[in-house]
Amino acid sequence: MSPVTVQVPAKVNLQLAVGAVRPDGFHELVSVFHAVSLFDEVTVAPADALTVTLDGEGAGEVPLDRDNLAARAVELLADRLGQSPNVHIHIRKGIPVAGGMAGGSADAAATLLACDTMWRGNTPREMLRRLGAELGSDVPFSDLGGTAIGTGRGERLAAVASVARFHWVFALADGGLSTPAVYRECDRLRDEAGDDIPAPAPREELIAALRAGDAPALGAAMTNDLQAAAISLRPSLRDTLLAGTAAGAVGALVSGSGPTCAFLAADEDAAKSVARSLEASGTCRTTRVAYGPVSGARVLPRLWNSESGAV
Ligand code: ATP
Repeated sequence: MSPVTVQVPAKVNLQLAVGAVRPDGFHELVSVFHAVSLFDEVTVAPADALTVTLDGEGAGEVPLDRDNLAARAVELLADRLGQSPNVHIHIRKGIPVAGGMAGGSADAAATLLACDTMWRGNTPREMLRRLGAELGSDVPFSDLGGTAIGTGRGERLAAVASVARFHWVFALADGGLSTPAVYRECDRLRDEAGDDIPAPAPREELIAALRAGDAPALGAAMTNDLQAAAISLRPSLRDTLLAGTAAGAVGALVSGSGPTCAFLAADEDAAKSVARSLEASGTCRTTRVAYGPVSGARVLPRLWNSESGAV
């Protein structure tokens, strides 16, 4: 069995509508997911034990034991396919850790595909996504990529066809935000306000803007019901959002549960200019320029190995 490498993208939620808490404790969601060109690469290889190593973004902040979502993905698929879970997983991280961009979910999706390929499991992708949903609500989208509407916990997906390319700037913060803590804060703020919680639904103007490739209309239609909670826990995010808007972004919002902020730019040059202004503003740790949509998890071709001569 030869090592297999899978590349997998980060996501941003163009819309995150959070409904009431369901009897199972999850919130009813409508999420418009959009895959962007920040990637993790996950390589799996046979080993004597299940081990995880990691380099790149946030090395030192990610668990390297069985708590790593990639390790849990190996165990889940090995159990289904009757394989040994003795696999070495190496993660090259380009997705900010605990940044609201689904980095852990991305690694789980990549690991399922990489192990299935290495073990020649021939598991249909739809089945891999269903398995992925057992590990986390965002895992199926990390496998699918593109742009898609997620319902339920976010795991039931319908692809949105869009030929346009959108240009993004991501402002990375110091330290992460815990997704459960942000949901708890959202519930607390709602209890305090006492408002009715409407059933979540996709915004028609957002889907129309996506289909038309209209960046200003998309920027105006983006919403995130977790944004107030993320700002409540990390008030400095307000300054980051204002700085990006002042720099000419046509849309600005907290990505998922934060603290990464996402800025939509009119074109590639505008994105570079927004990134420069954000860095100069001192309201974020650093920035990344990216585009979307991009495809989901995919197996990378093996490179020529000059030592062994193997391909
Ligand atoms: P989401 O957007 O899905 O809510 P996130 O992008 O905010 O997630 P992650 O990068 O997935 O956050 O990390 C959340 C936590 O999950 C981290 O603090 C880390 O302890 C844990 N974790 C487990 N496995 C991984 C992994 N492979 N990569 C990153 N974090 C992981």
